[in-house]
Amino acid sequence: MYTFEDKLKEYADLLVRVGVNVQKGQDLVITSQVDQAPFARLCVEAAYGAGARLVDVSWADDAITRMTCLSAAEETFDVIPEYKVRFNTDYAEGNACFLRLVSSDPENLKGVDPSRLERQHRASGKYMKRYRELLMGSAFPWCIGALASPAWAKRVFPDKLEAEALAALWERIFMAVRVTGDGTAVEKWHQHQENLQRRVKILNDYAFDRLHYYNALGSDFTVGLCKGHIWCAGGEHSAHGQFFMPNMPTEEIFTAPDRNRCEGVIYAALPLSKDGNVIENIRFVVKAGQIVEASATANEELLRKSIAVDEGASRFGEVALVPYDSPISNSKTLFYNTLFDENAACHLAFGEAYPMTVEGALDMSEEERRAHGLNTSITHVDFMVGTEDVSIDGYTADGRCVPVFRDGNFVF
Ligand code: ZN
Ligand code: ZN
Repeated sequence: MYTFEDKLKEYADLLVRVGVNVQKGQDLVITSQVDQAPFARLCVEAAYGAGARLVDVSWADDAITRMTCLSAAEETFDVIPEYKVRFNTDYAEGNACFLRLVSSDPENLKGVDPSRLERQHRASGKYMKRYRELLMGSAFPWCIGALASPAWAKRVFPDKLEAEALAALWERIFMAVRVTGDGTAVEKWHQHQENLQRRVKILNDYAFDRLHYYNALGSDFTVGLCKGHIWCAGGEHSAHGQFFMPNMPTEEIFTAPDRNRCEGVIYAALPLSKDGNVIENIRFVVKAGQIVEASATANEELLRKSIAVDEGASRFGEVALVPYDSPISNSKTLFYNTLFDENAACHLAFGEAYPMTVEGALDMSEEERRAHGLNTSITHVDFMVGTEDVSIDGYTADGRCVPVFRDGNFVF
């Protein structure tokens, strides 16, 4: 029987050795909430054990973030201080690894004026442009992992006592990241990567022109795929050829939609947790790639603002396939956290596309990408569309229809 401490240690090791895969002599930047310091220390220890040159930890605190968003002066939402920009850009350009440990209360920013968050988002897009380009282009190794916190656990398990909820959320996380405490997680992840690659190959060989989604919820939606699109999953290689796993957990196989060729009506299958608010029952009507109607039964204004931050925010940048029958989905838990919820269901994202999902796009300018059909934006927001009954058909360039999903799962 393995202890909770065994599992934490194995998880920290996994994030460092498989997640960012830190190399001898390389720097590692860790971002963590202050109350997760014990886990951050395990990661620092694992990183130095793997030969890291320097581990630089950057701390955040939910309570202070909330106070800042509520009370800081208006003009502070339009700028990111130079030193913060430099911190990230310098490390990124120096090929450091970035490990982000997330554990925030999904409702931490509830009640904050959405326009303040939108301005902050815009400022981040403007000032952190270089860093974001490097990140989205996989120039350096990065990984996002999640840690249970009492506030997040309470949201996921509202009927449990605090300690029970926390333990339950940790168990769900361990299950999703294949950690049991026996030290085999690294091996299991190599196996998982191979399984994902099998389907990636099939999808890439078909080179579909478009996918058609339909389900009982009322979705009837066609996603045109970008010319030269590449399906990706699991790990990838950085500009320096270093293999890393950007998201842990990860179950998705994803590529780039054509920003001008999405059409129809699409319903979200799950609520979307955004900036501390939960947007419920999203419905989009899309014409020639653009969202022309956006509605929700809760936080509709936030949804409208989210798709209006720039021109690309109302178009699609990601299409991802996840079997309904997969570890996170089977846990039947709504995590109110994109990292988990996006790996429980097929999803789409409005906003920025990942350039590595299209052949040659890494070397294209922003204008060239858009001309190619690849979306660009300062935002990227995933929302779930996969249901138990979703069917997806792939259409090849010569008009052949190939079943890809039936009853929520891959056909192959
Ligand atoms: Zn995704
Ligand atoms: Zn995404």
